[in-house]
Amino acid sequence: MSDLPSSQTDVLVVGAGPTGLTVANILGMHGVRTVLAERNPSTVGEPRAVSIDDESLRTMQYMGLYETLRPRLLVGYGSHYFSAAGSCFARVLPEVADYGFPRRSAFRQPVLEAHLREGLQRFPSVTARFSTTVESVRQDDSGAHAVIVAEGGRREELACRYVVACDGARSPIRESLGIVMSGSTYSQRWLIVDLLGSTDRFRHTRVYCDPSRPALALPGPEGTRRYEFMMMPGEQADTLLEEASVRALLARHSSEDARLEITRKVIYQFHARIAERWRDGRIFLAGDAAHLTPALRRPGHEQRCPRRPQSRLEAGRGGARRTRPGPARLLRERATPSRLVADPDGGDHGTGHDAQVGAERLPRAEHPAAALALPAGTGLRHADEVQAPAAIPDRLRIRFRRTGAPRRHAAAAPARAA
Ligand SMILES: Cc1cc2nc3c(=O)[nH]c(=O)nc-3n(C[C@H](O)[C@H](O)[C@H](O)COP(=O)(O)OP(=O)(O)OC[C@H]3O[C@@H](n4cnc5c(N)ncnc54)[C@H](O)[C@@H]3O)c2cc1C
Repeated sequence: MSDLPSSQTDVLVVGAGPTGLTVANILGMHGVRTVLAERNPSTVGEPRAVSIDDESLRTMQYMGLYETLRPRLLVGYGSHYFSAAGSCFARVLPEVADYGFPRRSAFRQPVLEAHLREGLQRFPSVTARFSTTVESVRQDDSGAHAVIVAEGGRREELACRYVVACDGARSPIRESLGIVMSGSTYSQRWLIVDLLGSTDRFRHTRVYCDPSRPALALPGPEGTRRYEFMMMPGEQADTLLEEASVRALLARHSSEDARLEITRKVIYQFHARIAERWRDGRIFLAGDAAHLTPALRRPGHEQRCPRRPQSRLEAGRGGARRTRPGPARLLRERATPSRLVADPDGGDHGTGHDAQVGAERLPRAEHPAAALALPAGTGLRHADEVQAPAAIPDRLRIRFRRTGAPRRHAAAAPARAA
């Protein structure tokens, strides 16, 4: 025991990004005593994720937050592909909604986070503490213990039964546990430009397949629009980020967009990484802390393989829901953390779904992910539905359909030692 002032809770959620906010909402739905600690004074204000998938929207619905978020989304969009000469040679349309939502919708991360934060107010069992940094976490047989630095620099100790580290890609908690991320960082770098004030009503992504400068223009709600430009060999980030360079790049595609307010411009390098374990005893990793996926592997284009190491926001929030009974159910059933580390290969990597199944073998109907597992197909294939409309011979209309092996679900999961 330290001499610090101390308090207790059942679950400490570290980080109020989309993942932590989602975890806290779900724990609140189950009446679990939860403290959500976020070092920043508020949720994000700057544009980050702009594309949200069907599983994430389903999670919003599960939390009772979809209907109020809906007016601030652009639900269901596809992609049109343009050659270097400017002709549209392929279209991918948002024609399937296997989970009740289109695979890809446009949103604003600051709006979503504010919405999730507001949702927490429904739950007396959840305390959200902003301007509060979790300095360290340790665990022993009696539980987990976090040292927290509250607003004004006051240090205190928080005892809890479980910790969910939703502390982002650089996750200090993951690092303190010595959990390694494997994978790679793409050598390509991209310039990401966010705009505000667009009146362009075109609702699909424009993909500019121009070898001299591959680029994308993504639609957004509320007059937002994002461009992504690949950096070419020999280019300097500083030069490219100059406003004049950015506006010149935009002007290649739209004179209107070249005049809009730029809300963010940043050079981004994509990572495809996954943590070797997603938990350590009483400590869970979730969201970017557990896995990172490059942006161009966008939701709606993602292959849904049974052990898809999905990531970014979609996986974080979908995974947050799938791991819901992790802390919540363990608390209800008074299970011990040893049940959680019974995984024969030393931990869970794969989807949060696998993690959950491995830990508890819930009956299928009861398992929150069981419903997600019900659609028979899981793969995504450019399949037999490629149509070339006779009137527009140079255009392809491509539909995706789900195919492939069934997703693992509770009923199919191998038994594990309790
Ligand atoms: C430019 C850009 C574009 C992107 N585009 C997309 C996109 O189109 N689609 C998509 O799905 N994703 C996109 N992403 C990624 C997406 O934003 C992240 O996947 C998402 O924010 C991850 O959520 P998270 O909650 O796991 O982590 P984060 O959002 O990183 O949140 C982690 C939180 O933990 C807090 N924290 C960290 N350490 C501590 C501590 N010790 N104590 C207290 N608090 C702590 C941080 O302050 C932070 O608020 C983009 C990201 C960027 C930067």
